[in-house]
Amino acid sequence: MKSQLQLNKLNSFKEKVYSFSFANYPSTSRIHKLQNFSSLNSIYVKRDDELGFGASGSKLRKYLSLIPFLIQNKYHEVIVIGGAYSNNILTASQLLIENNIQPILFLPEIKNENRRGNFLLTSLLIDKNNIHFLNQSDFSSLNLIIENYCQHKKEKGINVGIIQEGANMKEALPGALSLCFDIIKNERDNNIEFNHIFVDSGTGLMAISLILGFSYLNKNTKIHVLQVAGHKDEFNNSIQFYLDYFQKQFQIQINTLSDYELYFPSSAKSFGSTNASIFKSIIDICRNNGIITDPIYSAKLFHEGKKIIEKNDLQGNILFIHSGGGLSLFGFQNELFKYYNKYCDSN
Ligand SMILES: *Cc1c(COP(=O)(O)O)cnc(C)c1O
Repeated sequence: MKSQLQLNKLNSFKEKVYSFSFANYPSTSRIHKLQNFSSLNSIYVKRDDELGFGASGSKLRKYLSLIPFLIQNKYHEVIVIGGAYSNNILTASQLLIENNIQPILFLPEIKNENRRGNFLLTSLLIDKNNIHFLNQSDFSSLNLIIENYCQHKKEKGINVGIIQEGANMKEALPGALSLCFDIIKNERDNNIEFNHIFVDSGTGLMAISLILGFSYLNKNTKIHVLQVAGHKDEFNNSIQFYLDYFQKQFQIQINTLSDYELYFPSSAKSFGSTNASIFKSIIDICRNNGIITDPIYSAKLFHEGKKIIEKNDLQGNILFIHSGGGLSLFGFQNELFKYYNKYCDSN
């Protein structure tokens, strides 16, 4: 962002994004060096985990614009769809209740003995009458079930909104774009420019917003995306969808997309799965870097990112986004204890 022209472009882009209503959640986080991570001395971490305790990181950014949208629509209830242990369900539940909107959860069936971790926390927030458990055949007719639910409520004068899985919605894009502006602020404050950024991806919206923002600003940073969920095609379709929406919504043009690359976990490949090497990484990152990471997103990102840096001999300034989600660790106490005994308490 050196020339005046680039600065003007950044400022007018920012103005367009912030012309949407934004909630006043924290949206700036610090960066610091990641010590003892690899032989490179120029690896940094962005502490989006510090944006909050209950709601943190990527999710909090998406809700910066999504919650004001739901409030403006005067919904009495909002349906939230997702997995029982989902960070999004847990985040949405907190923020909706705070705003006096009743969350209605649509979750896959789950046994009571599996009420732990995020699902246990969500159960503290939401009465069981407002949780609808669906079996597999219900999921194949989910749209119809939701339509019926909304219609039934409408007849009673109750206005119902919907949050899609992972809050992957266009109304969350302005909030998600705050990450792009915050990284540019970090660069300016620290007098540094990043050559590579590592970010994790579930639905892809956070990573996509970063790619779109950097593309529009012609930033010369390669974005390395670790896709912990979904397929390559889904990500690429989604980027096309959001590219079209972005250009229409902000009335601006992206000529070429920034350089980005998709990776998949080489270890504990399927979404939500974990294994010994992921827990070993969690312990290593604790001991070497003083950072607590969750096994679903961040530990996988650091684990895989380190391999990618070494394999490709990446150079320059590198940034890892710690996207938050630490509360899910609460569901892995037995594993943490097991691997503590295995790796830390051997004498
Ligand atoms: C949801 C989530 C992500 C992924 O965000 P997407 O926009 O769905 O790709 C990353 N990290 C954490 C901790 C999350 O909860």
